[in-house]
Amino acid sequence: MVSAGWTRSKWMALVAVCGVLASCANGPQPAGTGPEGGTAPPPVSPPASPPQTGAITYATSGHAGIDAWRADFSQRAIAAGHDRQIVKSLLEKLSPISMWLGTEVQVQTAPSDQAEFAKPIWDYLTVPLGNTRINTGKARLASLAPTLAAIEETYGVDRQVLVAIWGMETSYGGFIGRDDAANALANMAVEGRRRTLAENELFALMRILARGDARRSDLIAGWAGAMGQTQFMPSTYYAYAVDFDGDGRKDVWKSEADALASAANYLARSGYMYGQPWGIEVLAPAGFDYSLADGTERPMDAWIAAGLSPIRGGAFDTGGAEFAELWLPAGATGPKLLLFKNFNVFKTYNRADSYALAVGMAADAIIGTSRGPVTPWPTHLPPLTVSEIRELQAGLNALGYDAGVVDGIAGRRTRTALQQFQKARGLLADGYPTKEVLALLQAPAVGTAGTN
Ligand code: CA
Repeated sequence: MVSAGWTRSKWMALVAVCGVLASCANGPQPAGTGPEGGTAPPPVSPPASPPQTGAITYATSGHAGIDAWRADFSQRAIAAGHDRQIVKSLLEKLSPISMWLGTEVQVQTAPSDQAEFAKPIWDYLTVPLGNTRINTGKARLASLAPTLAAIEETYGVDRQVLVAIWGMETSYGGFIGRDDAANALANMAVEGRRRTLAENELFALMRILARGDARRSDLIAGWAGAMGQTQFMPSTYYAYAVDFDGDGRKDVWKSEADALASAANYLARSGYMYGQPWGIEVLAPAGFDYSLADGTERPMDAWIAAGLSPIRGGAFDTGGAEFAELWLPAGATGPKLLLFKNFNVFKTYNRADSYALAVGMAADAIIGTSRGPVTPWPTHLPPLTVSEIRELQAGLNALGYDAGVVDGIAGRRTRTALQQFQKARGLLADGYPTKEVLALLQAPAVGTAGTN
């Protein structure tokens, strides 16, 4: 999904009913109290022609928190200049969604969180690189060839990348969500923790309707508010969606051409480089300094001088790209990748490295150049649990290596800190969290115990 970097399980673990309702207690005014604060609003008996003004009255949603938030938000929207009829059309049929405001989902995730394993990247890749996803992608690449060629020509984004993202986001339009976008975002606003984001996205929906990009009934979304076959948040839709099939609407829900061209427009304006690879798997010579996999982009000449070569043979074909970063998603014994700018462009769709890797590898598989890495994933190395990664982060921080927030997610910062620790101990500095390195980290260092 474009623009959201949080997960369903994270949300579910944090949802708390009392917080939801308490956070709605301020703000809303009683219906009928106008902006001037008078206790008895003047009776409105307008002539037939002028537009209705004042607070919008709604039938109850059946949820007190939604009703209170809606009364307040409607007034703010109208005060901000949004069309009264559009505001009403977006908010008149709200209802609680259990993912946001239900009571049954809150209990189950938090206790088991400690035992949960961080999903290894090879598990994450199973579905994106599976036969069903890739074969369907190949079929779409063929059946939509004229449309994809026109989109590629217009926006300069390689067609296999668009098809791969389409597959990742909604299984090629198979799962675009069943919620009303306004209702999903209203639920998010009422739940409270991302209220500002949710309200800004609702304002974007108002602008979308005001501009006539889509009809009210088109606005279908997933539970988090992302819309259509390529999952645009409303603000992203407003900024980047296009009408590629020329029927007058930006129909990312039902028009494959509109959805794919909108994604292409977004990627192009995020800096996509046509014809350049997202990544190239490499071989490293014995004795290679893996601490160079530190997130720094270096010139291709430097990587070649350091002994890296394409694992599939031949010379590097970078399509003109001159800089790359070395990434070891599973440490020095797993696949080693030089990453190019397009990898980071994929991450504007979803900030996770694993997502960008899945898009890149799926794109290569769909176009038929390769199917996953040559080097096997080190599946024999048991992944650390979330709590073990927290221990690792806390241990690194305690020793003065900056692993960042102790959140149980081994991101780039944690890995860089781990590399520094490994290097200081004379270990192979690949930054990959294993049971062995955690044990080393937790063992008192000879001669320095107790000094910091
Ligand atoms: Ca259209």
